[in-house]
Order: sequence, then C-alpha cells, then structure tokens
Amino acid sequence: MRIAGTVQESIVDGPGLRFTVFAQGCPHRCEGCHNPQTHDAHGGTERPVSDIISEMLKNPLTDGLTLSGGEPFAQAEDCAEIAEAAKKAGLNVWIYTGYTFEELVVAGDGSAERNLLGLADVLVDGRFILAERTLEYPWRGSRNQRLIDVRRSLSEGRAAELPYPAEPINNLGGK
Ligand code: SF4
Repeated sequence: MRIAGTVQESIVDGPGLRFTVFAQGCPHRCEGCHNPQTHDAHGGTERPVSDIISEMLKNPLTDGLTLSGGEPFAQAEDCAEIAEAAKKAGLNVWIYTGYTFEELVVAGDGSAERNLLGLADVLVDGRFILAERTLEYPWRGSRNQRLIDVRRSLSEGRAAELPYPAEPINNLGGK
C-alpha cells in the first residue's frame, strides 16, 4: 500500500488513543487542504499491508484505527485488509474521506469501496471546504463534513449523523 505515514498514538483523529494510517494519493484537491503532500498517488512510500497491521497491533493500549489521507477509498482493498484486522482485534474503525456517504453507496454492493465502507464504524465524510472552515466541530475541518454512524446509515438507507457530544461514541464497534 502507498502511504504518507502512520501515527502510533494519535489523540486527534477520533476518540481515545488511535493508530492512524495516512493513505497516499488524493483525487479531491480541496483548496486549503492541510495535507497537500498526500495528493500525489506516486508519492509517499510503499509498505506491505502486513507490516502496517503488525505496527497497529503492537500497542495494546490502542482504542481504534483511523484511516485518513489522502483518500483511503482510492486504495480501498488495502485499507479493508487493515480495517478487518482492526475489527478482529476489537478496535473501532474511523475513516476520513473526501467522498460523501451517498457517493460511496453508489459504488454498489460487491465493490471494494462498499466493502471498506461496511467495515467502518464512523465515516467523517465530504471534501474540505475553505469557506466552511471551523475549529468548533470536533474531528472535522469544515462545517459540511459529517460524523456518520455507518452501521445505522446502511441499515436505514440514509446518512445517519452522530450527535455531538455523542454519548457512547467511544463504544462504537470496539473497546
Ligand atoms: S480530501 Fe482531504 S486530503 Fe484530499 S484534498 Fe481534500 S482535504 Fe486534502
């Protein structure tokens, strides 16, 4: 998998202590993006998915996995392998994406994107919009971005947003 990097003990990419993988490559090119070095799909470094999984499982204190970027859905199969290993280890899974929930659902059953979406507990969705930039919405950069309860959304067939403060947000699908 092509990655921009990993962070072992992140406290800013979701609740609790998280292992974060920054996927390399992003087609969205949002104006004002904080991680422009992740845009080039040929940049970053190539790492075996098995290495990334071993690194994730090294720290027993980790609460969850966050897949960020770049665009994780541009490498949906590799990201799904990591997310599956995280779920097996009892970690909750958050995914940051420039796509909206609705755009990902359109990819359809059986697609790599739909498979990855189904492994997420929370999706932080939508492009970063500079005019909507805010520091007031936890875990998001702009007001249009949503915290989506993926399981509920898929069963109800519409994007179900998590309220904030969200009471059992720490308990979503993991420790
Ligand atoms: S989706 Fe995220 S990484 Fe990609 S350009 Fe937009 S803000 Fe940057």
